[in-house]
Amino acid sequence: MHVLVLGGTTEARQLAELLHSHPRLRVTSSLAGRVAAPRLPPGEVRIGGFGGADGMARWISEHAVSAVIDATHPFAETISFNAAGAAATAHVPLLALRRPGWVPGEGDDWREAGSLAEAAEAVRGTGRRVFLTTGRLGLGTFAHIDDAFFLVRSVDAPEPPCPPHMELLLDRGPFTLDGEREILARHHIDVLVTKDSGGTATAPKLTAAREAGIPVIVVRRPPVPEGVPVVATVEEAAEWVVTAAPTEDRPAVDIGTP
Ligand code: NAP
Repeated sequence: MHVLVLGGTTEARQLAELLHSHPRLRVTSSLAGRVAAPRLPPGEVRIGGFGGADGMARWISEHAVSAVIDATHPFAETISFNAAGAAATAHVPLLALRRPGWVPGEGDDWREAGSLAEAAEAVRGTGRRVFLTTGRLGLGTFAHIDDAFFLVRSVDAPEPPCPPHMELLLDRGPFTLDGEREILARHHIDVLVTKDSGGTATAPKLTAAREAGIPVIVVRRPPVPEGVPVVATVEEAAEWVVTAAPTEDRPAVDIGTP
């Protein structure tokens, strides 16, 4: 059974590891190719776009894929919609693996934004020294803000347009609470901007912001395409695969635990 894992996340890599250890599964992980030196999962890896939903459907058929797991980042909206279209066209079951979103706790000062554009609007009324952790893509949304300093953290360097007053911090998680405290203090940060990515690797910044009494602008997640079943953990996704990803015309077949 050939499983296609749409990746680019820690969970996708962990899932590929789990499935790769199963003797009756062949796993291919697909990466967009955005990161210069990605951490590669075990099993087969393909890198680069498919050419839209039709391209992905063709790839699925040509490579005899029997199930697809969309384990991409919660904010990778296009690939998730393409996966829904491709799976329907190629008649293969699709599951979305989405780590749960973050939930504010006591003492948190979170302000929700529906998009990066809304987050940029919210920055204007909230702070002048911004820790921007929404990734290098979409940085242009903040480029018109010329009366605030931006500390931008991303894995690879962004391309213009960028905010005029900006310092770049090239790094990738996991991050530590001590490290995040130090960054907020050293740069005199007075507002944090983040996507609701969820997970533990990048969560310490939220604790550090709460401790420092700094407001956090949290960009809400886009929805998972309608009708696509969702699980929250790597284990649940692996379980779905080993029960042979049942569809209407193919009953569940248990091929054993990985
Ligand atoms: P996106 O906007 O949803 O996708 C744009 C295009 O990139 C897709 O149409 C597809 O091209 C290609 N693509 C995206 N993910 C792919 C994958 N796993 N395998 C093959 N092609 C892929 O995606 P994005 O937000 O730019 O994110 C790109 C990748 O980075 C994703 O894999 C995601 O998991 C990871 N990532 C994203 C974020 C984020 O905040 N968005 C954060 C961390 C990691 P074609 O149409 O040509 O197939």
